[in-house]
Amino acid sequence: MGFRLELETKAARAVGRLSRAAGRGGGTTLPGKLLWKLDPGAVDELAAGLARGVALVSATNGKTTTTAIAAKILGNRARLAWNRAGANLLSGIGSALLSAEDPELGLFEVDEAALPEAIVRTHPRAVLLGNLFRDQLDRYGELELVAERWRAAVASLPEDAALVVDADDPVVGDLAVAREGVLRFGIDDSRHARPSLQHAADSKYCMRCGSPYEYKAAYVGHLGDYRCAACGHARPALDVVARNIEFRGLWASRFRLVTHAGEVELDLALPGLYNVYNAVGAAALSLSLGASLSEIRTGIEDFSAAFGRFERIGASGKTVVLLLVKNPAGANEVLRTLELGGIPPVLVVALNDAIADGRDVSWIWDVDFEPLLAKAGTIVVSGGRAAELGLLLLYVGLTEDRLEVVPSLEMALDRGLELTDSRASSSSSPRTPRCSLCGESSRDGASSPRTGRRRGEDPGRTPLSGLPQHLRRPREHCRPLPSRGAQGARAGARGRRSR
Ligand SMILES: [Zn+2]
Repeated sequence: MGFRLELETKAARAVGRLSRAAGRGGGTTLPGKLLWKLDPGAVDELAAGLARGVALVSATNGKTTTTAIAAKILGNRARLAWNRAGANLLSGIGSALLSAEDPELGLFEVDEAALPEAIVRTHPRAVLLGNLFRDQLDRYGELELVAERWRAAVASLPEDAALVVDADDPVVGDLAVAREGVLRFGIDDSRHARPSLQHAADSKYCMRCGSPYEYKAAYVGHLGDYRCAACGHARPALDVVARNIEFRGLWASRFRLVTHAGEVELDLALPGLYNVYNAVGAAALSLSLGASLSEIRTGIEDFSAAFGRFERIGASGKTVVLLLVKNPAGANEVLRTLELGGIPPVLVVALNDAIADGRDVSWIWDVDFEPLLAKAGTIVVSGGRAAELGLLLLYVGLTEDRLEVVPSLEMALDRGLELTDSRASSSSSPRTPRCSLCGESSRDGASSPRTGRRRGEDPGRTPLSGLPQHLRRPREHCRPLPSRGAQGARAGARGRRSR
């Protein structure tokens, strides 16, 4: 390590320690941000010092969970530098490199837009490209734009770098078409296919000729076994596949992992097809880095959950299940998982529009909430855009007596627990579940570190207080609309969004 880099890393680490000591937070992300300001080239140098190189993971949905599963597998083989808290820009990679103890292998999830630069700076040994869904319209622009940047990034990869792609995504699968030695992963289990593409599906049209794809099986959004009848563009043969998938309620799934190196039955402590994709992707990445099937099995079976992605938090004899959703495809999969696993009696659904969440929340109108409403009891809506979410739920058929609007996340969580008997509650939280709740991970989930207020104390809740003036008296102003009107309003919202 050069003298200059040594000084920079010492300074950045010291700032992280100071920040933690002062209780200011940011102790994990600040060092990388500072290092990035001081000298962006430091990331290149630190990455170059890793004896076993760097592996990068990017996708719209699931990159945090995929990377966390891969870390379980690969952590048994090497000391990792891993951005486990999900800080996935170059500064977050810098922080992970600074905080790791004598790391050998860098394992980093990377923001989709930051991937090209991350490839240039870290010279990865392996890159996993997962799905591309429409996400954060105000931030990333069109899905096609990200795909074009990824295509150029793939072309810049050295020949000996391993490339792993989700071949069930027509756009992502096509990025690998000109390359040798690619590992293609996907799902083969038509029992779990959807009867048709959902309206939230993004890549419906053949990327070569523009005709609609025909799906033998559509699994998650536009991911599946596709084929274009006009030009023949179809899902390529898969190298790493999940078959015989079984779901065990809201808690787990089991599947057969089929690879060129053999087959193995796996138990995964996560529900939902989208998590099977995450596990198969992590397995494929680990294979490309030399892991054996038995190492993959041990890692996957030891895995519990990535932070905030499918966490279960005990709270006074009750269980809060925390789910993160951030775009229509992800939300629909979470709802399908809830439906299959048994919809909890109380749901707290939060919607935020902070910068990190994406300011444009119009995507919620593309989510299929209807199956949820038929079975859910009370739904408490919360967050900065609670009123809009509440209005949407009324439009799609939730009755007023089952809706509560509690904009404060803390109070909403308390209210959800209050409404739940000691069986189970569920909290589904679009974006920033951690910092918006309390700034820290509250393991008991029952009190706020900031206010110290305990559950059961009067939160001063004022139902419907977050609604705009004209909606505050729902009995006078917000009767559920007749179904045709509701459908019309929603179709109108979708029409405005379609391209
Ligand atoms: Zn075609």
